[in-house]
Amino acid sequence: MEQQLKELQTEALAKVEAAADLKQLNDIRVAYLGKKGPITEVLKGMGKLSAEERPKMGALANEVRAAVSAAIEGKQSALEQQAIQAQLEKETVDVTLPGRPARAGNAHPLTKVVEEIEDLFIGMGYSIAEGPEVEMDYYNFEALNLPKGHPARDMQDSFYITEDILLRTHTSPVQARTMEKHKGQGPVKIICPGKVYRRDNDDATHSHQFTQIEGLVVDENISMGDLKGTLEVFAKKLFGEDREIRLRPSFFPFTEPSVEVDVSCMCGGKGCRICKETGWIEILGAGMVHPNVLEMAGFDSQKYTGFAFGMGPDRIAMLKYGIDDIRHFYTDDIRFLKQFAEHE
Ligand SMILES: [Zn+2]
Repeated sequence: MEQQLKELQTEALAKVEAAADLKQLNDIRVAYLGKKGPITEVLKGMGKLSAEERPKMGALANEVRAAVSAAIEGKQSALEQQAIQAQLEKETVDVTLPGRPARAGNAHPLTKVVEEIEDLFIGMGYSIAEGPEVEMDYYNFEALNLPKGHPARDMQDSFYITEDILLRTHTSPVQARTMEKHKGQGPVKIICPGKVYRRDNDDATHSHQFTQIEGLVVDENISMGDLKGTLEVFAKKLFGEDREIRLRPSFFPFTEPSVEVDVSCMCGGKGCRICKETGWIEILGAGMVHPNVLEMAGFDSQKYTGFAFGMGPDRIAMLKYGIDDIRHFYTDDIRFLKQFAEHE
């Protein structure tokens, strides 16, 4: 029996040594150390042994088990180590491969135009003022000389949240809020860019959401000449040094007098499709701040005067980039937006 056990040990150790992978090793474990394994089988014959031989055989059987078990464990960690090594080699990174280019996004064409206009006015000493898009009726209309029931309100039908709260129809409430903060003390010199909303039937030139930039200057001795000079600088910087502006009388409730401002067309006055054969393109509305608006904001209209202007960056971007439909700005079609990536 002693001989049998020793042979079994030699046999098992050789098989463990030869095991090629973890599966084979596990099969060996089950075969030799399992309940139906040969060691158990041999020990069944213990009953025939003498009382003094029995414990000796029992001890030897345990030694054999321990030796085989230790060999299996040793082999197992060696095989696991090999597997890790093999995987590492398989997954080697080739650092000489060219990298994948990072996908850069690009600014929205409207953002670009707004930022260009902002830079231009910052260069002339203006600061940028912002305000809420969900606005009170008071700031959106009343503080701008548009009391409840004023007919000009019909031109700016909005989305009302309650009777007194609405989505702002223009960025003018930012002017009203800024003037209020100044508590009757000039100078005020701001531009207010932002999104505005009007109930409208969307088509190629109308969108219920659009963008505005308004400007406001309030100080002593501000005249119509300052307004004209400012807008001339603006038009030339944005559209080109050869461009001119012209002022036509108009009406806005919050300015008096009020003007529409046109810039000369790129066709040089000959007439083309863009200027509808007139040689001029309308770009903004402006005027001297109405004394009522100044007084309502706490400014002494005898001491202070000011001018205000408002323009649509959507329309300016359309002219600048030759875009034929305002809705492109708001539908977020990646094919449209990608055209404005900067290729440097
Ligand atoms: Zn033209």
